Amino acid sequence: MEHEPLLMIPGPVPVPQRVRAAMTQQAINHRGPEFGAAYADTVRILKTLFGTENELYIISGSGTAGMEAGVANFARDRSIVSLVNGKFGDRFAKIGERYGSSVTVLESDWGTPLDLEGLERELEAGAEVVTMVHNETSAGIKNPAPEVGKLARKHDALFIMDGVTSIGGDDVQMDRWGVDIAVVGSQKCLAAPAGLAAIAVGERAWDRIAEKRPFYQDMAAYRKSGSKAAMETPYTPAVPLFLALHEACKMIEEEGVPARIARHRRMADAVRAAAKGWGVDLFPELDAHHAYSNTATAMRIPDGVTDQALRGTVKKFGIEIAGGQDHLKGKIFRIGTMGSVGAQEILATAAAVQYALQKSGFAAGEGVEAAAEVLLG
Ligand code: PLP
Repeated sequence: MEHEPLLMIPGPVPVPQRVRAAMTQQAINHRGPEFGAAYADTVRILKTLFGTENELYIISGSGTAGMEAGVANFARDRSIVSLVNGKFGDRFAKIGERYGSSVTVLESDWGTPLDLEGLERELEAGAEVVTMVHNETSAGIKNPAPEVGKLARKHDALFIMDGVTSIGGDDVQMDRWGVDIAVVGSQKCLAAPAGLAAIAVGERAWDRIAEKRPFYQDMAAYRKSGSKAAMETPYTPAVPLFLALHEACKMIEEEGVPARIARHRRMADAVRAAAKGWGVDLFPELDAHHAYSNTATAMRIPDGVTDQALRGTVKKFGIEIAGGQDHLKGKIFRIGTMGSVGAQEILATAAAVQYALQKSGFAAGEGVEAAAEVLLG
């Protein structure tokens, strides 16, 4: 019997059957009450995951489209300070370079703490916008959004946060933390198909929206269409994906947000316990302000083991885990714990990784057993 591959990468993640089924329905009018109701209900549920009462809109496009919409609408011709400690922080800085009047990149080694002192200096010197990735998927590190939000508010700067792999899987409190613009991607913790981004925008950001905005991703146009009696998007949206995301959000509401976040944490705890059991080092280097990601665990590939042998062997069992990106290729491997992931997937993955490590000659210890203990809690 053919089994579907088990995706344990940090997104896309397996999409539950109910969500897939929602995508296959006959086309509907995107300027009608059925679409409007689905859009509005999705927004209602997403706001609980963002921890916000701000306006929230859904863009047809992946997470990067949401990041770009944030920068292009609200940071155009402004001085930006970009915090970078991984690939997606780097991407945010590159987007900033397309639109900002200037970008100061505060780069730390990937997987190490952000330069908060440097941030304060830049804000004191007048930086108008801060960009930061909350959960840096490339390195498995969670960055200190509340601290950065506090600093940005103190200096009256806008704070644009990439929550692409935290929102829906970890605690996010946009309003309380002082985040002005936050973005999530559909294919990560929401367990929906790839292709949508949601962006929430606070009043301080609306007050500063750029005069010259992109055409397709004009957030003022999203706002205008979104305020109609039946919610709409300015242009034809990816309707099947919207319907799938709505179903995914209903599943999230049924599980309950606190329960969902607790499950993500437990799954990540189990993976970290497995790493400890194997004798494999976690990749990030933390300080008091930073934490391990609860949605993507990055580990160092032990000496003598190759990325190809490790992931290749795991794949023979029908399980896909991720390698490192850019200069971390061959140095780390990553296991995603996003979406609907549960004990079955974690145990299968831990067993496959443990076998693969041992097969490569690394004397991996009892990681599966350690993960099992955490899962039974
Ligand atoms: N930001 C983070 C933290 C991510 O993990 C990713 C994708 O992995 C992105 C942004 C980019 O999202 P997408 O590939 O959906 O454009």
